[in-house]
Amino acid sequence: MKVDVLVIGAGAAGLMCAIVAGQRGRSVLVVDHANKVGKKILMSGGGRCNFTNTGVTPAAYLSANPHFAKSALARYTPWDFIALVEKHRIAYHEKELGQLFCDESSKLIVRMLLDECAQAGVRIETSCGVKRVRKTDEGFNVVTAHGEVHAQSLVVATGGLSIPSMGASGFGYELARQFGHAVLPTRAGLVPLTLSGKHQERYQDLSGVALPLTETRVGKHSFRAGMLFTHRGLSGPSILQISSYWQAGDDLRIDLHPERDLAAWLQEQRVARPAAELKNVLGDVLPRRLAQRLCELWFESRPMRQYREAELKSIGEQLHDWPIVASGTEGYRTAEVTLGGVDTDGISSSTMQSKLVNGLYFIGEVVDVTGWLGGYNFQWAWASGHAAGEVA
Ligand code: FAD
Repeated sequence: MKVDVLVIGAGAAGLMCAIVAGQRGRSVLVVDHANKVGKKILMSGGGRCNFTNTGVTPAAYLSANPHFAKSALARYTPWDFIALVEKHRIAYHEKELGQLFCDESSKLIVRMLLDECAQAGVRIETSCGVKRVRKTDEGFNVVTAHGEVHAQSLVVATGGLSIPSMGASGFGYELARQFGHAVLPTRAGLVPLTLSGKHQERYQDLSGVALPLTETRVGKHSFRAGMLFTHRGLSGPSILQISSYWQAGDDLRIDLHPERDLAAWLQEQRVARPAAELKNVLGDVLPRRLAQRLCELWFESRPMRQYREAELKSIGEQLHDWPIVASGTEGYRTAEVTLGGVDTDGISSSTMQSKLVNGLYFIGEVVDVTGWLGGYNFQWAWASGHAAGEVA
């Protein structure tokens, strides 16, 4: 079969690219080895797809080249995607911090993309893996599970390594290497952190305890959001966010109550409630089980009147700068994204075309661009897919 554009991967980026290329009158075939398109879209945002973020900024993306994402993000903005969502009459709402979710179901986003593909004449084949790719004078010769395809342009939209059970594979990285592209080391991002040994034993039985607002810090990076103790370690949005910046051995600090000056507050409590024990006082501003555990591990719990001012100051400071020794992450099994990937040095930031091989494109998560939690990753998928779709 001959097509103008062959897209490998029917996820967010691949479908967007196919739509835009199809609308330009290009004949487009999308192949995916999974049995369904857009599996990650379907499972995203707890089934409601956090499809974009109105606060998208290049600073919200990790990449060896922090400037790379700027061009595509500026040319296809959250408002462009919102317009598409509204055209399809999909009801949505802002949850918090600019995060937009479907009111009903992620299925509506996949339906929207499939409707747009159908209108643009895009052909999609699922359960169709790719066996071999060769460069030819006219473009590419690709052997798929459903036969041979000759394509002028080849778009690699195979995503990252997270959630292998959903069809994730390293195929895009292999293809990149085959054509001489560098692939930067990959690791799991937006992922729960694990504790081990005595660090795990200390907090294991707090599994399920949640803090509504914490500030996690690694180096100069920090995030304010909720946090959750799990059986194996720590999770919740502030942990997922900082996990993308944390690497084994890094110093991770957590402010357990960033919105209150705990040292000053404890001094007030000493005057107001001199007979109350520290663990009970702390239990008013932290989950009670956590307050108790911190007192067992760090501070002796005595009636407030027995503390000197300097002691309360030190307790407050420790609660704002809790050092936590993480042993690792839960890995690709539960990670929302994959950091690293195809080196942006070899790709044009305006078209996503390879600088090494004419007609070859890399879009979405397979590229070394990874967003924060909160709709940033889909916006990168839409924007990079759109950029490639305009020229492929
Ligand atoms: P994908 O969507 O992963 O698509 C890649 C496609 O390529 C898949 O269909 C796969 O089957 C196919 N493929 C892979 N290898 C091959 C091969 N060898 N041959 C053929 N096909 C292949 N981001 C947000 O912005 N908001 C969210 O709410 C959100 N929630 C998430 C929840 C979860 C649980 C997870 C895991 C991720 C979430 N993300 C979210 C991240 C987001 O899903 C990804 O960043 C985004 O899907 C990347 O789009 P993509 O098109 O590059 O890759």
